[in-house]
Amino acid sequence: MPKLKNNFSCPDCGSTVKAWADLDAQVTFEISKSGKLVKRIIENVQQSDGRCGVECSKCSWAVYGEDMDDDSPFAKFVGEALGQQADIQFLTAKRV
Ligand SMILES: [Zn+2]
Repeated sequence: MPKLKNNFSCPDCGSTVKAWADLDAQVTFEISKSGKLVKRIIENVQQSDGRCGVECSKCSWAVYGEDMDDDSPFAKFVGEALGQQADIQFLTAKRV
């Protein structure tokens, strides 16, 4: 067991931990009179089931938000990640 650098490192390997929150997005178009999709918007339609969590950037350690103890040092980060995704109203697409 490696020595922990701080409370916010991976408890298994000491690497950086990532906090994540899913968002549900919808792409919407208007159908023009000539039959084309126009005015594309991509909107956050707000997931309602609180999908979020933390995961290690290196190993397979991960905890889902719903399985997280309230006194976990990571609890505030998943809440914050969830809050930040809720603040996103529109998204932009990068085409490949
Ligand atoms: Zn790890």
